[in-house]
Amino acid sequence: MGDTLFAKIIRREIPADIVFEDAHVLAFRDIHPQAPVHVLFVPKRPIATLDDLQPGDAELAGRLLLAAADYARREGFAEAGYRTVINCNQDGGQTVYHIHLHLLAGRALHWPPG
Ligand code: AMP
Repeated sequence: MGDTLFAKIIRREIPADIVFEDAHVLAFRDIHPQAPVHVLFVPKRPIATLDDLQPGDAELAGRLLLAAADYARREGFAEAGYRTVINCNQDGGQTVYHIHLHLLAGRALHWPPG
């Protein structure tokens, strides 16, 4: 996998509006928000897609989910609700090949998505 935009954000080579960081996960606001809250949760270790996740990555995958859920609770919109999305490969709409979890909140989100 080549170097990605998100690897550059993790290394602070390009700016981002970072809202959470720990040893394993970085979260920053999406530059083209699709909802009042739109945050991307990214593992610091680069994994290209959900399809590349291995059994040994189970803890890291769990950390992404927990970081998003903790953020929603902390920011006060967990009870109202939110959506998490991981796009995978072309038909899934993935454009940045460093796995990331979208957290969308702040408005009613339609289902099914288009
Ligand atoms: P995906 O289409 O699932 O791969 O999501 C990639 C997301 O990255 C899109 O929602 C983009 O708006 C977002 N994005 C692209 N460039 C940046 C950037 N420099 N900072 C923050 N988000 C970005």
